[in-house]
Amino acid sequence: MIKRDPKRCHAMVMARPGWYKYQCARRGVVEEDGQLWCKQHAPSAVKARADARTLKYEEKWDAMKKQAVARKEASRDAEQMNRLYQLAKKAKNGRLALNVDWTSGECVINGNYRGKDMREALDAFIKSRSED
Ligand SMILES: [Zn+2]
Repeated sequence: MIKRDPKRCHAMVMARPGWYKYQCARRGVVEEDGQLWCKQHAPSAVKARADARTLKYEEKWDAMKKQAVARKEASRDAEQMNRLYQLAKKAKNGRLALNVDWTSGECVINGNYRGKDMREALDAFIKSRSED
């Protein structure tokens, strides 16, 4: 055990990754946990940096997740529009009437097939056609 200079920063630092450790050469200017530390190695400063880093990664991660969700929704919408288009082409009278019931907020296809959104209304419509 190396005897540490009590006037210097209490932190032990690595000369290079994997090399020996030595006591930080800077003067101890902050007292925390009964020891003196330089501004960089004070436990509160170390923790603040770690917290800031964690927050930064969390924000980055959240942004990535949001982007992935947005991409997924966009491709699902495109897929749905394509399904609608294909159905409209196949419909007997050549058209699909898509409406919104403003009292219930539901999506309505050809006046009969309802759903809380276009997907549900489409599913009801497709189901009815496959039963024909
Ligand atoms: Zn230090």
